[in-house]
Amino acid sequence: MTSGGAVNFDYLFKYIIIGDAAVGKSNLLLRYAHGQFKAEYQLTIGVEFGAKNVEIRNKIYRVQIWDTAGQESFRSITRAYYKNSVCALVVYDISSRDSFNNVSTWIEDCKNQSPSTIYMVLVGNKKDLDDRRQVTTEEGQELADKFGMQFYETSAKTGENVENIFIDSADVIAKKIDENYYDLENDSCGIKQGVNRASGNNNNARRLDEQQNQSRPKSSCCLKWNPLVLIILLNIK
Ligand code: GDP
Ligand code: MG
Repeated sequence: MTSGGAVNFDYLFKYIIIGDAAVGKSNLLLRYAHGQFKAEYQLTIGVEFGAKNVEIRNKIYRVQIWDTAGQESFRSITRAYYKNSVCALVVYDISSRDSFNNVSTWIEDCKNQSPSTIYMVLVGNKKDLDDRRQVTTEEGQELADKFGMQFYETSAKTGENVENIFIDSADVIAKKIDENYYDLENDSCGIKQGVNRASGNNNNARRLDEQQNQSRPKSSCCLKWNPLVLIILLNIK
């Protein structure tokens, strides 16, 4: 179950989305965090993030998703973008063989630059474009198996399977926390412990989002994700 409000939470997870330009990364974020889809292609400007809460077994996990600043077009995503992430969604477009062929490079890049504990998920997006499909579901699954990743085919357009990525991955990460897999004292694992929800301080989620925003890659411009910024960004031609 998910909810959009900035309430207190038990843990904050930092997710990143990587993959070739135009595979639908920004729209997956838009769909998940705001339930929207944008048909026109707009280059992502500035590092953006959306956040939404996932409730699992009576705990609230705030999943904060960071989107690239169009750097993927130049294959120049910096270490700063990868750092302090608990989960990476590696996205390709099922109607683009090229984007699928590049997945292994993205995975290697992620492995080289992220914390060793990073949890990676493979996402074949644009499932609704079945008539233009260039990559079969079996090929996607095979690649995911090769790298030991969870695999989903999604559509940011229809919303199919999008929420499941986040619910399932948050569940896996929550279980790993219970197994002491992460060093929670160290921010680099991509997890921040939340405040005691019983304390009733509703400003904490926002404060932590702001802290994260201040620590974002220095190359990005000074934009904090909010619906107004999103509307402005999506209208920049
Ligand atoms: P990004 O460069 O990876 O962030 O890709 P965008 O999210 O900006 O999407 C690139 C283009 O693909 C845009 O025109 C989107 O409308 C379109 N798009 C994204 N996701 C889907 C999808 O699931 N189905 C379809 N049909 N189009 C999509
Ligand atoms: Mg984008």
